[in-house]
Amino acid sequence: MRKLDDNKKSKAQLIDEINALRKKISQTNHSLRDTTHIQHNTKILEMIAIGKPASEVYDAIALMYEQRNPGMRCSMLELHGNILMHGGAPSLPSAYCEAVHGLENGPEVGSCGASTYTGIRILVEDIATDPKWEDIKQFALPHGLRSCWSEPIKNSKGLILGAFGMYHNYPALPNESELNDLKSAARLAGFVMERDHDQKHIRKLAYTDELTGLSSRAHFYLYVTDLIEVTQENNNDFCLLYLDLDNFKDINDSLGHDAGDILLKTLAKRLRESTPKNTYIARMSGDEFAIIIKNVNVKDKSHLAKISQSCLDHIAHPINILDRKITPSCSIGIACYPSDGKDLITLLKVSDISLYEAKDRGKNQYVFYKKELTQKVEYRFQIEHALKEAIEKKELSLVYQPQIDIQTGKIIGTEALSRWHHPKLGSIIPSEFIPIAERIGMIKPLTDWILQTACNQTIKWRNEGLDLRMAVNISPKHFIDNDFVPMVQRILNETGMIPSQLELEVTESTVQTDPKNLKIFQALKDLGILLAIDDFGTGYSSLASLNHLNVDSLKIDKHFIDDLLLNNKTKLLVGSMIEMGHNLDCYVLAEGVETLEQYTTLKKLRCDAIQGYLFSKPVTADIISKTPNYFKE
Ligand code: C2E
Ligand code: CA
Ligand code: CA
Repeated sequence: MRKLDDNKKSKAQLIDEINALRKKISQTNHSLRDTTHIQHNTKILEMIAIGKPASEVYDAIALMYEQRNPGMRCSMLELHGNILMHGGAPSLPSAYCEAVHGLENGPEVGSCGASTYTGIRILVEDIATDPKWEDIKQFALPHGLRSCWSEPIKNSKGLILGAFGMYHNYPALPNESELNDLKSAARLAGFVMERDHDQKHIRKLAYTDELTGLSSRAHFYLYVTDLIEVTQENNNDFCLLYLDLDNFKDINDSLGHDAGDILLKTLAKRLRESTPKNTYIARMSGDEFAIIIKNVNVKDKSHLAKISQSCLDHIAHPINILDRKITPSCSIGIACYPSDGKDLITLLKVSDISLYEAKDRGKNQYVFYKKELTQKVEYRFQIEHALKEAIEKKELSLVYQPQIDIQTGKIIGTEALSRWHHPKLGSIIPSEFIPIAERIGMIKPLTDWILQTACNQTIKWRNEGLDLRMAVNISPKHFIDNDFVPMVQRILNETGMIPSQLELEVTESTVQTDPKNLKIFQALKDLGILLAIDDFGTGYSSLASLNHLNVDSLKIDKHFIDDLLLNNKTKLLVGSMIEMGHNLDCYVLAEGVETLEQYTTLKKLRCDAIQGYLFSKPVTADIISKTPNYFKE
């Protein structure tokens, strides 16, 4: 029956049905196309979300639109300044991409050159005849490219980032659907491009040191990690020069941070000038820089020595900053890959050890890493730790060296000198452990303990009938510490020490360095204690500051006493020091007197007191208690 009914349909009805069916099929095709497109779109969004490289996402976008529009080939160009750079074009011939890459955009530089230049869509129907292609059509036509429609790619603020191009092998203009595709493709590519731009910008910020324009510490880590990987494959050694400016803190503190910044910029420039072209240089922090010398024969140290010396020489040129002439200097620690370290952390560690050694040897020099340096550092750590513990547990001791009045031969006072004996490390001399205590920030508790012990000892002697003055050495480090004067005051109060019996010995350099120190000296003098200039004659103290400071005594350094009988000029010099001291109302003491001849000469020169092995080495307190008369002439 049904069949019969169907057969009965009119021709017009059949045509209608066929058309409806066609429409349905077309709709199904469209929706199939749309479904695939949506799937592709989702995939691309996923790629963006997981941070795939922009070039991969560009290719995926191009392929998506090419699949949707058979015969079409797509490209994405990035605009850097006014230069067109290849972004992605997986189906365009590479010769064409290369020819376009690097062109300057302009109104007649093809469709994409024009769209990025004008900021508007450019639809070129026929590349062969369009004037916009006149100058560059020779790149396109040999590859069969005939039409090109280009949509500028913009970021969210409307800034042009590049162009999306659609090519066909025949002259054509887009229909409505193709035009929509062109617009949506450019939007999608814009999203990727903007994100890529932002990431590159952030990376640039993180990887560049803002002040000097050198690479940042973060970049250095990546660079060296990559370099180690490549070097492992190629067997090319490289070297790390770790550089630190000498005394940068002083410059920063005295001239201010702006001056410090100018100096660092100049330094960066000088480092670029003093190293071979394209040398990698990073600013690691404050005044620390890392230089990588590649493709070196690390066994040939002379080449590296030459580069290091060149850095030292260039940096040492005087520079005028804020009307002050500064002569900078730096120290360099050198570590070679792979002989000194096979990974970044080790290389940094050993270059730092070498740098420390360069500083320790007096700065303004370079030092190559050696295994012995690590042993030295390990010893240093061990000794630092032991000293800290010894100071905390009050395991140091004091000895006292008598000071003798040159006229009466009587003991008038003592100098307290600290001693440290470690059960395993043995006896360590003060000229070794005092600088360590300063370095590890333990000088304050040490001086605190020394002052207390020395004051208590003075009082003990007084109770035994021995009225002696007590001299205590004070490290210059105390003069940057606001707590120092209150500490002395507290100890005077706690121990009941008569202030005028306590003499603090400071070196000439401390007197000289900073006007701030003068205030501290005055505050100390106001406490009623005495001040002595130690090692007098070895530093530079202006007479004016000595006078101004109201110094109580001068201690002529042992070097002059050693030379006293050997050199007549020294004798004259010592004579004038004594005279000058007296003119300044100072008490003059000679240190390190070992012979009777020195003693008699000093007596003739009218020196007031002496201290030295001739009378006594530094001894324990009870020796002085038991044999006070032993020290008489
Ligand atoms: P200094 O203040 O110049 O102390 C004098 C040094 O010369 C002492 O060495 C002393 O033992 C030594 N000496 C004294 N008379 C003679 C002599 O006739 N011949 C020879 N060859 N040497 C003599 P010491 O005790 O080894 O101290 C060395 C330096 O360590 C001291 O030089 C001082 O700068 C520092 N020092 C010692 N104890 C302390 C302390 O408690 N605190 C601080 N800040 N520094 C200290
Ligand atoms: Ca001294
Ligand atoms: Ca001295």
